[in-house]
Amino acid sequence: MSAGSTAPATAAAPRANDSRSPDPILPGATIGFLGGGQLGRMTAMAARTMGYDVRVLDPERDCPARVVSSATITAKWSDAASAAALATGCAVVTLEIEQIPRASLEAAAAVAPLRPGVEPVVIIQERARQKEWIAANGFPLGPFRIARHAATAADAVSALGPSIVKSAMGGYDGRGQVRVRTPAEAGEAFTSLGAPTCVVEAFLDIEFELSVLVARRADGEAVSYPASRNVHTDGVLTYSSTPAGISDDLEARTQALAREIAAALGIVGLLAVEMFVLRDGTLLVNELAPRPHNTYHHSERAHPTSQFEQLVRAICGLPLGDVRVVRPAAIHNLLGDLWADGEPDFAAALEVPGVRLHLYGKKEARPGRKMGHLSADGATADEALARVREAYAALGRSVGAGHTPTRTDR
Ligand code: ADP
Ligand code: MG
Repeated sequence: MSAGSTAPATAAAPRANDSRSPDPILPGATIGFLGGGQLGRMTAMAARTMGYDVRVLDPERDCPARVVSSATITAKWSDAASAAALATGCAVVTLEIEQIPRASLEAAAAVAPLRPGVEPVVIIQERARQKEWIAANGFPLGPFRIARHAATAADAVSALGPSIVKSAMGGYDGRGQVRVRTPAEAGEAFTSLGAPTCVVEAFLDIEFELSVLVARRADGEAVSYPASRNVHTDGVLTYSSTPAGISDDLEARTQALAREIAAALGIVGLLAVEMFVLRDGTLLVNELAPRPHNTYHHSERAHPTSQFEQLVRAICGLPLGDVRVVRPAAIHNLLGDLWADGEPDFAAALEVPGVRLHLYGKKEARPGRKMGHLSADGATADEALARVREAYAALGRSVGAGHTPTRTDR
């Protein structure tokens, strides 16, 4: 179905700004998901709302997306034949995790279009490769070195000063990272991480953290959401809000940076760009994610188009949705630690006006594991944030105020 250049004269003329791609994948088609965690689940729910069928591949049998998937394949990421099996019968395949071996990505891509695309994922999935790509393409990064030996990690800290040693593969939510002050500590950190390659990053004087989410279609059409403002604790996102409350100039620079990176990668779907704003005002890229992102969970409240619906639109070649902030909103993550002494007091949290509860259906509440989040709207981002923080505090009422989570499994 084209934009209408060959349509008969009697057909309705296309709108002046017709933003349909020439060949959209329409509702009724099946979308395959590599990964059925919370991001896959929430995207699959948006796809279902729009009338698509959904299939999922995940290593865990009881993955969160299973309940919204018509057929769930349980297989390892390295199982290329299963990736191809997922793609069979799907009009398009997307993913919610970047740690999938190239062979599996290629196997799926040989059967159905894989969106975000094999190359963007391969660049992003290895931290050293990602950093080198960002630097080589002229985007701003903090000082870093790549280390393949403990001695190189130590040398890096001699040059950079206090740093973070990050495993190049498999790290997320601050895992696979060690903060170090001295060359000797860096050498020990490299050895303790047990990774063949690490990135050593200078510890930066961060004033605050932002992220920008870009949605991009195969024909290059793109939109970017206003920046989200993010607060992390020990490397894990604690809460996030929008609008970010930054100057128009900084907002414009974050948007331009994220859109330029998405275009340079040629990504199709979503790209989240995590950014640091340093105390001296410098704007740097932290890292990239080729998928929905925790810092845009409030997009279900703040924008006419959630990040999940937007991903479906982008990979299906549909018009990209409106990304204005129509209502300030915030989220607060719920980590497994909250379950240490039993079920949190959800009813108490839901007493706070404007608060919604989002649980991912994970069976086991392990410390540090993302189990769900609270969202709220508000007249301002600060009010929305105050509401999720109040609701979060209320969750612990059943186990007493000032409760300190123990880091043991239930
Ligand atoms: P992950 O892949 O686990 O999200 P990140 O590299 O984004 O890893 O690091 C997680 C968080 O740790 C960041 O959001 C930031 O709060 C902090 N952090 C990471 N790198 C640096 C750095 N170079 N200097 C200071 N803080 C950092
Ligand atoms: Mg990060």
